[in-house]
Amino acid sequence: EAQLIGSFAQIMKWSDEVRRLKIRTNADTPKDSETAVKFGAEGIGLCRTEHMFFKDNRILAVREMIIAKTTEDRVKALNKLLPFQEEDFIGIFEAMGSRPVTIRLLDPPLHEFLPHKDEDIKELAEELNMDIKILKETIEDLKEFNPMLGHRGCRLAITYPEIYEMQVRAIISAAIKVINEKGIEVKPEIMIPLIGHEKELEIIKNLVNETAKEVMNDAKTQLNYKVGTMIEIPRAALTADAIAKHAEFFSFGTNDLTQMTFGFSRDDSGKFINEYRQKEIFEKDPFAKLDQSGVGKLIEIAVELGKTERDDIKLGICGEHGGDPESIDFCHRIGLHYVSCSPFRVPIARLAAAQAAIRNK
Ligand code: PEP
Ligand code: MG
Repeated sequence: EAQLIGSFAQIMKWSDEVRRLKIRTNADTPKDSETAVKFGAEGIGLCRTEHMFFKDNRILAVREMIIAKTTEDRVKALNKLLPFQEEDFIGIFEAMGSRPVTIRLLDPPLHEFLPHKDEDIKELAEELNMDIKILKETIEDLKEFNPMLGHRGCRLAITYPEIYEMQVRAIISAAIKVINEKGIEVKPEIMIPLIGHEKELEIIKNLVNETAKEVMNDAKTQLNYKVGTMIEIPRAALTADAIAKHAEFFSFGTNDLTQMTFGFSRDDSGKFINEYRQKEIFEKDPFAKLDQSGVGKLIEIAVELGKTERDDIKLGICGEHGGDPESIDFCHRIGLHYVSCSPFRVPIARLAAAQAAIRNK
């Protein structure tokens, strides 16, 4: 066994010597972050924050926040969540040390956090001491016909800026604590999801910077952090020069970008994809292997336009394709700086990045 581990380490060492792409991981807990670091991850490319809101002792405050009728009530509920978020980020920063950590602000439609069965709604009404009829109406109002094309991602922050404000407060204060208490040079990167228009990013970037400034001034500590965006809507790719004015990095969210480019749902495509593969319309599921001629073309356009505005823009991918060898080869060829994948795929990605570097010499 020791010999096997030795051979594995040797192959990984050779891979690291030739690859140009950096390998990051998608992780949202300290445990996953530690696992990924053991496998050689050089940073976090995507820390999703939605699961953090589902944890048992927080969900009631999350629900209070969602059904609040006034900004004041929403802020009250968000203030209850702030210490939990800070704790989440402290754990992740400590696990990652001085490696970059890209934290994506809240993305999913809010109704996902609410109960939908009658008995669960009744229980929540009791917990919140609220009229059940009003609660039912509120939940009904939040329902959308196409939630994945609805009120999610940055659209939440345009409507309710206080949600992202709380998250940014938690990120910056967690980073300052880890720097001051542990002496670790933390590198937070704040990522905005589902941007389709440069104005959305401009508004939210200003909110992020103002909030960060306030926290840093209160703590009398300055901190280097980056603000960037996901590119996961075709319009964002096609207007990437305007978007790059407000973004220090782009991370290609190829799950949503594939969904929106093909116009079929990432959650329902299973109903016909096999038939499509049998009829050789697709060789492989485009959600698993990057569609280079369509989705990839949009990525290439975005890379080119992004660089015309900001030649040092940092470029990565954090959709599922970031762990797929053929897609990694494509990412190498078009000049991305890193790929990000689940912790257990990190060794495969290191190897695939090396093969891409050799193949495309
Ligand atoms: C993506 O859309 O590719 C992505 C990484 O974000 P999520 O899967 O969380 O929508
Ligand atoms: Mg997405």
